[in-house]
Amino acid sequence: MQIKIEIGDITTYEVDAIVNAANRTLLGGGGVDGAIHRAAGPELLKECKALNGCDTGEAKITQGYRLPSPYVIHTVGPIWKGGYQSEAVLLANCYRNSILLAEQKELRSMAFPAISTGAFQFPLDKAAGIAIDTVSEMLKQVKKVEKIIFVCFDDKTYQAYHQINA
Ligand code: ADP
Repeated sequence: MQIKIEIGDITTYEVDAIVNAANRTLLGGGGVDGAIHRAAGPELLKECKALNGCDTGEAKITQGYRLPSPYVIHTVGPIWKGGYQSEAVLLANCYRNSILLAEQKELRSMAFPAISTGAFQFPLDKAAGIAIDTVSEMLKQVKKVEKIIFVCFDDKTYQAYHQINA
């Protein structure tokens, strides 16, 4: 069982599944979602169109197409609305449901972006705490998934994760 925190571009990661911080339509968007769709190629959008969207906190899996990772797990983080709309629970659900889906598919390694901390404005320190707590707890419960990498796109995010992990 292993948790790593790294700075990088998640679209370059050779893990069994990279996780996409998608929106409810699953039809692409900005940020990490846009980067994943660009790197995977148009076949990804085609498969996503057949999924009929995804609820907040839930997760759905597709192939990775031109990505180095064979699978993409698409999860929809909550939009931060001040913390009074179950945002923390919903964000924890994203990590939990993504790992459960990977476990079902018998995947061993996954990379997560900092879900909801970009356009969805979830406070970074809180989000990093939820990410690390939920993933640590889940890794104790699953059998196949054994390696999780938190891929931070910038130094601020990297520092926030390390603060929690210290
Ligand atoms: P959300 O809508 O869930 O907030 P964003 O994509 O706007 O999603 O941001 C989530 C996080 O993903 C942010 O920390 C952002 O900097 C980061 N990010 C953007 N592009 C990439 C990438 N290529 N690899 C990893 N992380 C990325």
